[in-house]
Amino acid sequence: MNFYQKYQDISQEISKSQPQKNILIIAVSKKHSYEVFEEAYKQGIRDFGENSIQEGLGKIERWRELNPDIAHTDREPHLHHIGPVQKGSLRKLFGNFVATHGVGSMNNWKELAKRSLKESHLLRCFIQLNLTLEDTKSGFLESEFLENISEIHALCNEKLIWEGLMTMGPSDGDIETTRNVFRKLQQIRNEYIPDKKISMGMTGDYKIAVEEGSDIVRIGTAIFGERKYIEK
Ligand SMILES: *Cc1c(COP(=O)(O)O)cnc(C)c1O
Repeated sequence: MNFYQKYQDISQEISKSQPQKNILIIAVSKKHSYEVFEEAYKQGIRDFGENSIQEGLGKIERWRELNPDIAHTDREPHLHHIGPVQKGSLRKLFGNFVATHGVGSMNNWKELAKRSLKESHLLRCFIQLNLTLEDTKSGFLESEFLENISEIHALCNEKLIWEGLMTMGPSDGDIETTRNVFRKLQQIRNEYIPDKKISMGMTGDYKIAVEEGSDIVRIGTAIFGERKYIEK
């Protein structure tokens, strides 16, 4: 399978839509095997998305064992954690993932802040906003986020970088709602934290996300095909 070709096709399509911007595409390899992940890396993909810390860790540890000469250098696959942050394994984010895109509560943020003080590696973080108000989605409600902005800032340090905001479109994929949600995230960013990035857009809605100003899209199915549940 030529994953890189698909990645490049999407990349070209995106840069045609936003020629003046450099939008990062994260290839979401969750629930695909180590072999798929490794093959995509060999083809040239560098940024990968995993929603389970355990699963991502399994992949990066195996890759490091097989590539000891370039392990822990910038030539490693860059893992982005994209799911809700699980409290128990959150310390494993540091040093193994370059970023987490799912900080969904002040509790999570405080826990990460506490942890970051003991770490030698830095972690880039995206605060997740729930703008569709669906119960199934985690994240700050808009009002909750606005109330906490200064505390979020205050807990940052040189190992805990607040990189931006993340959101997900509605589960039913409604185009109108999707656009409104993405536009809303861009507005919130522009108004309150204009120097930060926004992470939004998946296989079904990345075109809309890009039109609405996304800096980072997270794409699985369009690159790797349907997900299988693999053993860890
Ligand atoms: C799985 C996942 C994606 C990728 O989904 P696709 O529809 O396969 O592109 C993006 N973001 C998050 C948070 C995910 O959990």
